[in-house]
Amino acid sequence: TRVLGIEGTAWAASAAVYDSATETVEIETEAYQPDSGGIHPREAAEHMGDNIPAVVERALGHARELAADDSDRDAADPPVDCVAFSRGPGLGPCLRIVATAARAVAQRLDVPLVGVNHMVAHLEIGRHRSGFSSPVCLNASGANAHVLAYRNGRYRVLGETMDTGVGNAIDKFTRHLDWSHPGGPKVEAAAKGGEYHELPYVVKGMDFSFSGVMSAAKDAVDGGPASSASGTSSDRGSDGGVPVEDVCHGLQESVFAMLTEVSERALSLTGSDELVLGGGVGQNARLQAMLGEMCEQRSADFFAPEPRFLRDNAGMIAVLGAKMYAAGDTLAIAESGIDADFRPDQVEVTWRGTEET
Ligand code: ATP
Repeated sequence: TRVLGIEGTAWAASAAVYDSATETVEIETEAYQPDSGGIHPREAAEHMGDNIPAVVERALGHARELAADDSDRDAADPPVDCVAFSRGPGLGPCLRIVATAARAVAQRLDVPLVGVNHMVAHLEIGRHRSGFSSPVCLNASGANAHVLAYRNGRYRVLGETMDTGVGNAIDKFTRHLDWSHPGGPKVEAAAKGGEYHELPYVVKGMDFSFSGVMSAAKDAVDGGPASSASGTSSDRGSDGGVPVEDVCHGLQESVFAMLTEVSERALSLTGSDELVLGGGVGQNARLQAMLGEMCEQRSADFFAPEPRFLRDNAGMIAVLGAKMYAAGDTLAIAESGIDADFRPDQVEVTWRGTEET
């Protein structure tokens, strides 16, 4: 199977081709970089409109090359068997542009359309690349934070954020510092030169909350109320705040420990001994190290896909699209509407064998 995938839920205008015979995934992405502040939905949608046609053409170019090497294929056949697109969750104005592009390409090539849940794609790419059969998955992305496991035909949300997504929380903190978007990699770099500064840690049941720790981090650099609770005067920067490197260090330790604790409890609850990581925040080496260590201590296997599959990308959409297509899980154009709040547990998992419960 060869699939064209199209992704555009927030910042990545991305198209990819996945060829299952050769396990090739070619990804073409144009990233939206806000001039100031965070992601503006209207500007992001304009970015999609400006860039999706070009990335799709580039991905189709790869598909034609792969098709030319495919001896089973008739010369008159389209270069891909179907077009898969991210239906949600994401920013509505962006999703509408991506869906329109996907419908147009599918009609032009006369192939079926497959509607993919973006969060399930973040999870399935890890399962696909690891070869694990039934892992627990931690999705640590910009707009979300979920711990998921498969049971009886669906991915169940075992734990999730009660407020903002984990990456968005980090980005809000760095906006406060006037650092450019995205903030995650800059916090990771700054944390390396810092000492631990204690910040709140909030896990309730299996859910996490990031807004309190973010406010406390902002207060700490400003020398505001929460920072006086911990640290000594010698910790303070020249303006009375805690040195930013120390806050970044403490922020990573708190937030990633929360994600690690809930992941560990999910492993224990499900009896699974496999964990996969997904989402853009998953590119963080400290998060990967904490999860890896926790898994090692309980003799579980841990897998983090390579960075191009962690951040938003159309490769994961194409790979899950191929599985859904093989299961006959395609969409009529008339039913191919987007869903900005599409939850992973709304998806009927058609592509996994009945032996896995
Ligand atoms: P979603 O998949 O929920 O729609 P998204 O579209 O915002 O999320 P992703 O590409 O999954 O996108 O994640 C982007 C987020 O990852 C940003 O918030 C960014 O700051 C964060 N991020 C990127 N690299 C790192 C890193 N090294 N450490 C921590 N966070 C990071």
